[in-house]
Amino acid sequence: MEPLVDSYGRRIKSLRISITDKCNFRCTYCMPAEGLPWLKKAEILSYEEIVRIARVAAGIGIEQIRLTGGEPLVRRDIPELVYQLRQIEGLRSLSLTTNGILLKQLAGPLAQAGLTRINVSLDSLIREKFAQIARRDQLLRVLEGLEELEKYPSIHPIKVNAVAVKGFSEEEVLDFVRLARRKAYVMRWIEFMPLDADQIWRKEDILTGAELKAIIEAEYGSLVAITTGDRSETARRYTFSDGIGEVGFINPVSEPFCASCDRIRLTADGQLRTCLFATEETDLRAVVRSDAPDEELAQTIRQAVWNKELKHYIGDKRFKRANRSMSMIGG
Ligand code: SAM
Repeated sequence: MEPLVDSYGRRIKSLRISITDKCNFRCTYCMPAEGLPWLKKAEILSYEEIVRIARVAAGIGIEQIRLTGGEPLVRRDIPELVYQLRQIEGLRSLSLTTNGILLKQLAGPLAQAGLTRINVSLDSLIREKFAQIARRDQLLRVLEGLEELEKYPSIHPIKVNAVAVKGFSEEEVLDFVRLARRKAYVMRWIEFMPLDADQIWRKEDILTGAELKAIIEAEYGSLVAITTGDRSETARRYTFSDGIGEVGFINPVSEPFCASCDRIRLTADGQLRTCLFATEETDLRAVVRSDAPDEELAQTIRQAVWNKELKHYIGDKRFKRANRSMSMIGG
């Protein structure tokens, strides 16, 4: 079988599937306070349609799937979807990104359904600050969700992701490090990107991975790089000199990793996006809702991948904002 490659020679292995555009948070860097006009039910891919696209994509070279949203756990019966996706031959990893608020109920069923990894987004450990950024006073429920997750070793290590925003995140960096070392969570920070619906992003708001690392090293001494040789890994990973704990920095703005990007994304309404910042999409929903055979679906995916964008151009005159915000794309 021909590998799934783009015209720049990048081999595409990872598919992120957004299963809903709805979210129960309103993070300031993502969604407006009042929410967004939600997709209608008929516009959203059914589980059957998602599984078919995933199966066809796995058949031509996709090895990893990550479910996201919106908030994926608000979609009904998500363990059933996880179970069905796990039956697909050729998939090495099936993970999920969540804000964690529903994990108390769902961690067990998700582990049982065969989820292999999970990322929990958490931007502050201070209740007021959490409520300010998520626009929901739900820190305690997220922490409870994380605790629940600890009971299921099949989905460890637990990764905690925080968006780093200048003037907001610095004061808690060391608290997150202490939590991660104590709990064996992998703690990662991701640079704020211009994908917020309110368009509040300014270059000055970026707190870079290098700045975060310097804050940690001032307290703990030099961090020790962890190298796995996997070029498509987005995070720069480090441990501490005593070997306890792991932190990572995802630096799409200050150190773009487009050259080794192996990802494509499917939106909840079935549009294939070959870059977070894509301005064009490929309508897979139209293909699955026609009588087209799997071969045609596979060919449509191959063609879209072939046309994958070279890079995102943030910080360059050529940069154009994407036509969707992060919650509508699926981070
Ligand atoms: N609701 C789920 C969650 O909270 O993880 C999944 C969807 S959310 C859009 C996925 C990730 O994107 C979250 O970690 C979120 O913090 C991140 N994100 C959203 N907007 C962002 C932005 N403008 N820059 C960087 N990361 C962003």
